[in-house]
Amino acid sequence: MAEQQADWKNKYRELSVEMEQLEQKTADVETELRQLTSYMSVALQGDSPQLDSAIATLKPLLQEPCGEHIGFLRKLGRQVEDHVRGREEQRSKQAKQTVFALLKWIRMLRTQVENSGSQNILDSLEKRSNEIEEKLYELPALLGDLIEMQSHIESDPSGSPAISDSDFSLDATASTDALGEEVRLLLKRVGAELLELISGLYVPKDAAPNARELVKRIETGFELPHLPEVVHQVVQLVIKSTSNTSEDFENYLIELSSRLTEVQTFVVDSKQEQEEIGKNQRDLDMQVRSDVKKLHHTVKNTHDITDLKKAVSLQLSGLVKAMDSFKRKEEEREIRLQGRYEDLIGKVEEMELETRKVKAHMEEERLRARTDPLTGLPNRAAYDEHMAQEYERWSRYRTSFAVVVADLDLFKRINDNYGHLAGDKVLRLVAKVITKNIRVTDFVARYGGEEFVIILPSTGAEEAAQAMDKLRESLAGSPFNFHGKPVGITMSFGVAEIVEGDSIDDVFARADQALYKAKEDGRNRVCTL
Ligand code: GH3
Ligand code: MG
Ligand code: MG
Repeated sequence: MAEQQADWKNKYRELSVEMEQLEQKTADVETELRQLTSYMSVALQGDSPQLDSAIATLKPLLQEPCGEHIGFLRKLGRQVEDHVRGREEQRSKQAKQTVFALLKWIRMLRTQVENSGSQNILDSLEKRSNEIEEKLYELPALLGDLIEMQSHIESDPSGSPAISDSDFSLDATASTDALGEEVRLLLKRVGAELLELISGLYVPKDAAPNARELVKRIETGFELPHLPEVVHQVVQLVIKSTSNTSEDFENYLIELSSRLTEVQTFVVDSKQEQEEIGKNQRDLDMQVRSDVKKLHHTVKNTHDITDLKKAVSLQLSGLVKAMDSFKRKEEEREIRLQGRYEDLIGKVEEMELETRKVKAHMEEERLRARTDPLTGLPNRAAYDEHMAQEYERWSRYRTSFAVVVADLDLFKRINDNYGHLAGDKVLRLVAKVITKNIRVTDFVARYGGEEFVIILPSTGAEEAAQAMDKLRESLAGSPFNFHGKPVGITMSFGVAEIVEGDSIDDVFARADQALYKAKEDGRNRVCTL
């Protein structure tokens, strides 16, 4: 009996140890569950007012063993179950609303783009929008791409968008191209100006090959870095071609150089600014990427739609802010650049006006340099120029021409008898008679003293001699008077026609010889050689 009692005692001890261990385990599990419930209640907060008040009641209960509150816990469990189910429905409804809004946005964007590239991207964005319900975590990336597409369309509705469906980047090259176009136009305009200037020059023979090369270079177009060099060459050519560089003209050249330097500075500055924009765009690009990454992260790690909404809207507003500031900077820059560009156009226009003035001035100077002041006829320099052109034409097309050297007979006597001023007057009158008696296509110059040269294009020696004979008669018959007394004026003519193998000097020398013969033969006559 005593043995039996000891056995029971042992059994009781063993059982109570087991019981203690079991109670300890239960307490541990309860602590863990309380902890877990506490975390989950935090996660559920803010979803519905009823749930919030239930959680508020639950919080103090979770500080202590809750065996007595089993009824309340059961009720709360059912409430949570209902809420979670309702939340799933709400989540799906919200996702549907989101898809609907996204598709509406894309439809709106479609109306603003024309090219197929943009439409393809919108197709892809539409496909991704339809999948958002199952892949809500894709929403931030999709929103980022849509915002990018929208801003692109706003800046350039017709152009190709810079984003692709898998990735996106901001278009840093578009405005560089626009600037490139502006520069090209400007250079074209400056080039036209320089060509206009060169066309007004009478380039000396030794500079002609350089001039031709320069014209070709300007005509084919040159790049901005070569502008100063081209201008320098033009200025050199202008200096070479104008014997009497007036102060006006020098000033003009200085002005021209400085205006073109301004063009250069503007373009260089613009390029630098452009690089700056490129950098800004890259910065923005990076910021957008990092923000979208953050959104991705938030979506992946937040399963609560309210938190998600809050996080997304917070991060999106940061993103929009970054975009806004970039856009503002862009607009300010554009206004600044536009102002400078307009200023520059004004300057180029001033330059065009100045060029026209200088050209007219140069033309005047050139004319003066080639005109005989006494008779108003072209002088010997003009003859040289005209003869060179006529000879060139003959060399190319074999269009024959005749040269006449004419000399007043015994003019010394006129001077001697009536004085030098009377002689001058006679020279002026003779010039008028000659001009009146030749064809408009013929050319006459005072070669020197009382000697004149006439070039008759497309004319043979015989025909030229006939024409000169008429002129001779007309001169001889002209009523020259000195103090009311008639004074006889006659002229002798030497005619020569260009022939194969002739140089300019050869044909002139033959005409001169013919003149010599006419003098020898008794003057007041026309001789041909
Ligand atoms: P010939 O018939 O042989 O040509 O006789 P000429 O007297 O005309 O010949 P010469 O060449 O000996 O004399 C030309 C004269 O023309 C000499 C010069 O006094 C005169 N003369 C040349 N240029 C001018 C000018 O600009 N004004 C005046 N008044 N006379 C000039
Ligand atoms: Mg004479
Ligand atoms: Mg003479």
